[in-house]
Amino acid sequence: MREKVEILNVPIDAITMKDAIRKVTSFVEGDSLKKIYTPNPEIVMLAQDNPELFRILTEADLVVADGIGLIIASKMKRKGLKERVTGIDLMHHLLLYCANNNKSIYIFGGKPGVADAAVANIVAKYKGINIGGYHHGYVKNEEHHQIVEDINHSGADVLFVCLGAPRQEIWIDQYKDQLKCKVAMGVGGSVDVHAGTVKRAPVFYQKVGLEWFYRLMKEPSRYKRMLVLPKFLVRFMIKG
Ligand code: UDP
Repeated sequence: MREKVEILNVPIDAITMKDAIRKVTSFVEGDSLKKIYTPNPEIVMLAQDNPELFRILTEADLVVADGIGLIIASKMKRKGLKERVTGIDLMHHLLLYCANNNKSIYIFGGKPGVADAAVANIVAKYKGINIGGYHHGYVKNEEHHQIVEDINHSGADVLFVCLGAPRQEIWIDQYKDQLKCKVAMGVGGSVDVHAGTVKRAPVFYQKVGLEWFYRLMKEPSRYKRMLVLPKFLVRFMIKG
């Protein structure tokens, strides 16, 4: 049974990292596609005005709380989210599992050259991992079915979709009935972190919940996106 918590009506799994790892690795061994999303407050806010995104999140097989803002909100109203489970950390454990269990991965997304660089670094870091393939995320509408065919043809077990939100969630939903992999996970800018084009905050910032602040210092142009956090908290306090 899934234990879920609603944050502004968006259901999020109240799950620890340990249990999330157990769950996603069991998904890889399953016999049908499982969809994993990793929302932060920005995505929860987007879902308020985007019924399609809202439906997609409610139909997911696992939704983990990626943003510290969700944990803060949950604490304020004792909703019961257990801890932050970031997409990039869950991806790391999934990559470890794939490397140790002869599973293969496919990375779709990022600027041209970024998915290749990410794959090269992943091969070096996760010894023995099978790479089904990769493709950058800047493709014309009519080319998307070709990407799905390439993913299926590659025999990949796990697909990481890195198109940013809500593009990646909508993409997974659109092709869910055609994809033959066992796991499709939306992991946004994780492809940039693996490629080394974006640096993740040092562990200190991660531990004290200030990863967003580090990112803001590095990419000040993100401030507009981050203004959504106070709006999210106010709306949450009023509507829950
Ligand atoms: N991206 C893409 N295709 C697009 C738009 C974005 O592949 O049409 C990629 C972009 O290059 C980046 C990722 O999607 O690698 C999303 O990055 P962002 O920092 O917005 O993601 P977040 O993790 O914050 O959702």
